[in-house]
Amino acid sequence: MTTDLAAYAAERGVKYFMISFTDLFGGQRAKLVPAQAIADMQADGAGFAGFATWLDMTPAHPDMLAVPDPDSVTQLPWNPEVAWVAANPVMEGEDVAQAPRNVLRRLIEEAASEGLHVKTGVEAEYFLLTPDGNALSDPYDTAEKPCYDQQAVMRRYDVVREICDYMLDLGWGPYQNDHEDANGQFEMNWEFDDVLVTADRHSFFKFMTKSIAEKHGFRATFMPKPIEGLTGNGAHLHISVWDAPGAESKVNVFADDNMELGLSEKGRNFLGGIMKHATAMAAITNPTVNSYKRINAPRTSSGATWAPNTVTWTSNNRTHMVRVPGPGRFELRLPDGAANPYLLQAVTLAAGLDGVRTKADPGKRHEIDMYAEGHKVRGAPQLPLNMLDAIRAYDRNKVLKAAMGEEFSQAFIKMKTKEWNSFVSHFSRWEKENTLDI
Ligand code: ADP
Ligand code: MG
Ligand code: MG
Ligand code: MG
Ligand code: MG
Repeated sequence: MTTDLAAYAAERGVKYFMISFTDLFGGQRAKLVPAQAIADMQADGAGFAGFATWLDMTPAHPDMLAVPDPDSVTQLPWNPEVAWVAANPVMEGEDVAQAPRNVLRRLIEEAASEGLHVKTGVEAEYFLLTPDGNALSDPYDTAEKPCYDQQAVMRRYDVVREICDYMLDLGWGPYQNDHEDANGQFEMNWEFDDVLVTADRHSFFKFMTKSIAEKHGFRATFMPKPIEGLTGNGAHLHISVWDAPGAESKVNVFADDNMELGLSEKGRNFLGGIMKHATAMAAITNPTVNSYKRINAPRTSSGATWAPNTVTWTSNNRTHMVRVPGPGRFELRLPDGAANPYLLQAVTLAAGLDGVRTKADPGKRHEIDMYAEGHKVRGAPQLPLNMLDAIRAYDRNKVLKAAMGEEFSQAFIKMKTKEWNSFVSHFSRWEKENTLDI
C-alpha cells in the first residue's frame, strides 16, 4: 500500500517534507514543502528548473516535476519535524530519461523481467575535516597506520555514535563502525538490501553524515582523495542476485556450493559483464577529476592505497578490482565517494545484465598481491588514468551506453566533457613551476 504522506505527517508530527532528487553529478536538490501542501505535491510533484541543476537542459525547458516516492520517506532523526523523500523527475507527463533515479528504476524493471533481483551493500567511507576543509578535524590523528585506531575513533565517538544510533532507529541494521586507513577517515556499515533501497540509503547516509558532522563543528567529505598521500574514500559495492525482491527473496542466485569460490554460473556471468565493461564503467563509478588520484595512485603513507589499478579479480584479497570475500557475492572495489548513488547501482546492473545475457566469462582469477606483483599479469586492461579517458571509454562502449539509455548517456557525456574542459582551462601552480623557465 502506498504511504499517504499527509497522513504520515499527521501521525509523526512532520511539519516539512524535503522533496529531493539527484542530478547527473550526484548533487541532491530539494524543496522544503509544508505538510499542508504535501497531498497535491505527492500527486503532481514539486516544480524545478532543470537547467539550474546539473542536468542537460536549457532555461527554455518546461518545468520538471519531482514526484516523491513515498516508499523512500525518511524522517530526519536529527530534526524529526522534517522528512526527506526521494523523488522521480517527470516532464510533461514522461519520466525524465536522464535523471539518475529513473535510469536505475528502468534497469531494475529490466532485470526483474529476467528474474534477476539485485541486492547490494555499499561502504561509504568519509573524512572528518575542519569546517573550512583544510585540515583533519583531529590534530592528534597522525599515526602512520591509523586503521582501526581505538583512541582516534573514540575522539570522534560523539559523531560516530550519533549517526549509528540513527541508523539503528531507522532499521537499517548497522553492524560496525571504525577508523579507516587514512588519518581522519571513518567507515560505518549497514546491511545490504534491494538496489533502490541501498541507493536511497546511500544518498541519505551522505546527507545525514554531512549534517551531523556540521552539527558537531566539523565537515564530512566523501571526496575520492581529499588529502594527497593518504588512502582515499572508496564506496565499495557488494553484489548478489536473488530470486525475488524485498523480504520475499529466498534464494541467492549467485550462490552455488559446487562452484569455484561458491559463485554460481549466473554470478560468474554477471561478474564477466563487470570485467568486460569496467573501463567504461569508471566514468560513472569514478566520476570526478579527483577520482583518478585514488585509483592508479602511488602507495599511500599507510603502505597501500587499497584501491585498484587494473581490471582483475580474485578471491579474498584486497589488491584487485573485484574480490570474492565469500560464497554467493562479490565486491567491486572500484567506486569512490563521488559516485552518484543511483548511477553506481544502475551501471552495475547494466554491465551485469549484459554479462548474464552474453554468458560472459570473467577470465582468469589472479591470486597475487597486485600492488607488488602486478607487472607479472599480462593482458589485464588498466583502469583509465584520468576522467577524460574514462568518458571516452564510456563513449566508445555502445552496449553500456544503450543499456544506460541513449538520452542519459548523451547528457552524461556532454555534461562531463564540459566539466573536464572547465578543469583543463584552469591554470595550475604546477604549470608555472614546471614551465616558466622553458
Ligand atoms: P569489507 O570491509 O570486508 O569489504 P564490510 O563489512 O565493510 O566489508 O561491508 C560489507 C557490505 O556487504 C555490507 O553492506 C553488507 O551488508 C554487504 N553484504 C554482505 N553480504 C551481501 C550479499 N550477499 N549481497 C550483497 N551485499 C552483501
Ligand atoms: Mg521561482
Ligand atoms: Mg568495509
Ligand atoms: Mg573501507
Ligand atoms: Mg570493502
